Amino acid sequence: MTEPDAKNRSKKLPNSSAGGRTGRLFVLSAPSGTGKTTLCRRILPRLENMRFSVSYTTRPPRPGEISGKDYHFISRQVFEEMIRKNHWAEWAKVYDNYYGTSAKDIERDLASGYDILLDIDVNGMRQIISRFPQSVTIFIMPPSLEDLRHRLEKRGSDEAGVIDKRLKAATREIACRYEYGHIIVNDRVERAACQLLAVIENSRQPNCPENQEYKL
Ligand code: ADP
Ligand code: 5GP
Repeated sequence: MTEPDAKNRSKKLPNSSAGGRTGRLFVLSAPSGTGKTTLCRRILPRLENMRFSVSYTTRPPRPGEISGKDYHFISRQVFEEMIRKNHWAEWAKVYDNYYGTSAKDIERDLASGYDILLDIDVNGMRQIISRFPQSVTIFIMPPSLEDLRHRLEKRGSDEAGVIDKRLKAATREIACRYEYGHIIVNDRVERAACQLLAVIENSRQPNCPENQEYKL
């Protein structure tokens, strides 16, 4: 995650929980380096009522990352203790590190009427869907693996060996894209951001087919 302030922006909630609205989860997944952070940075300031879920991780911070904004950086020992205490809404091991979403954080924001944007991997998405079946799931694709390699190199936070590892993982992750409700290719940032905004705004409409209960 290269852009520290990208994910934390949220607008003030106009009608908090007093309006009786319960928020909704929007799950974003993509192979590392595809551009999730870049896209989140673009869309969050344009969305009312949306909070970014700051994950917990045992991986060390990258240069420029800020604890509490990009991630909550915690030790392996603390993370495992929180697994035992059933603290996580979902968690997964990605590239030898733990990543997780706090159930309390999610439930607090949902109860306050916020929608929440989660940047999590495929395993995390599966857990969220089984716990919150109304969640909207979006997979972001790189235009090609060659483009993905260039983006990882451009980001400059990984050694060559780590980039090869990430590309192998990307192939496995891309194979799971049809488990998601929506697939967006991040070819040009602004185009992909507009598509992402459209998916989110459309899913928020009460007459969106996915929000209807069918009586047959
Ligand atoms: P992720 O959060 O998915 O790991 P980042 O948002 O950190 O990915 O993006 C990885 C790199 O790719 C960054 O250097 C970013 O500027 C670049 N990037 C993101 N989207 C695009 C795009 N559509 N075209 C070209 N480069 C991009
Ligand atoms: P990075 O280390 O590049 O920030 O993230 C690596 C991967 O971990 C990405 O695929 C990202 O979506 C995923 N990830 C980040 N936070 C979480 C989380 O809380 N839960 C899960 N399951 N995956 C996460």
